Amino acid sequence: MKALVIRQPKDMSICDAPKPELRDGEALIKVKYIGICGTDIHVYNGHHPTAVFPLIPGHEFVGELAEIKGEGAESFEIGDMVVAQEVLACGRCDACAKGEDNVCEHLKIIGVHADGGFAEYVRVKTKKMYRIPKSIDLKRAALIEPLAVAVHDVRMSDLKVSESVLIVGGGPIGLLIGCVAQAAGAGRIVVSEVVESRRKLAEQFGFATVNPLDEDFDTKLLAANGGKHFDVSFEAAGVPSAITTCVDYTKNTGTIVQIAMTKGPYPVDTGKLFAKELRVQGVRIHNQYAFACATNMVAMGMLDDKLDALISKVFPFDEVADAFAYAETCKDAFKVLVKITD
Ligand SMILES: [Zn+2]
Ligand SMILES: [Zn+2]
Repeated sequence: MKALVIRQPKDMSICDAPKPELRDGEALIKVKYIGICGTDIHVYNGHHPTAVFPLIPGHEFVGELAEIKGEGAESFEIGDMVVAQEVLACGRCDACAKGEDNVCEHLKIIGVHADGGFAEYVRVKTKKMYRIPKSIDLKRAALIEPLAVAVHDVRMSDLKVSESVLIVGGGPIGLLIGCVAQAAGAGRIVVSEVVESRRKLAEQFGFATVNPLDEDFDTKLLAANGGKHFDVSFEAAGVPSAITTCVDYTKNTGTIVQIAMTKGPYPVDTGKLFAKELRVQGVRIHNQYAFACATNMVAMGMLDDKLDALISKVFPFDEVADAFAYAETCKDAFKVLVKITD
């Protein structure tokens, strides 16, 4: 099969690779569309701490069920349009026992530690696979995985109806969090973001925006929330100033959700965590229920217009190297998709 293989960091090309062979409880998906994620770019650049090479990257895929073996096969038909959660867990550690296998002690991820979806075929676990209606635009379905991240983030925040939301970092995940929070009944939603095109899209989605580089950022941020601090803050930027903003502008007894992977340990004013009784919640990828919810939201067409607006460009498979370069260097790019097969 045709596959994009990263042999080692910065060394990537399309080549012929063996089609994966299935074990019991596994399925083979003929990939239609796949999204490029920040993780894929980190892996390509050699910045992912645990990626295993040679590797076919990619975990944001949608495609047609081509083969299925053993347990769970009775729930699907060949030709079904499907997506699959990329989490591969041991099933035996305490986190797995609690059903939180996204934080499995032996976690492996398709596209990072096992071959992923930048190929004609990708192998997945049947129990992590979901059918979607054939009638939906598959480009939107390629956003189910990042949407699942946002669903998990909002669910873990415990956001309640009419509560205010601060999102620090208006990239694809930050904006998807806004969309999910809005759908969940949030009150004011404010996005703090440096890049103008991201602020514009956030405003188009109905969120207020502020630029953290503005001189009077503090005044504007509070004004955007009616003079109040925020009930829930999402740190989706991964820079030290972002966590500081969350600590400073979350109201007493509020919640901070840490989503971004940071480059190092960042300082936090623990005195403020104490004095304000802040809850800090780390959130990693998504659990399977969040993935199921995201699949359902896309299948129901809940966010069609917003998902369309988030798709910046679709590249053919043969131009995948250009797609990676575009996703990495173009600051106005949101989600970049690659069409793998017809
Ligand atoms: Zn991703
Ligand atoms: Zn485990």
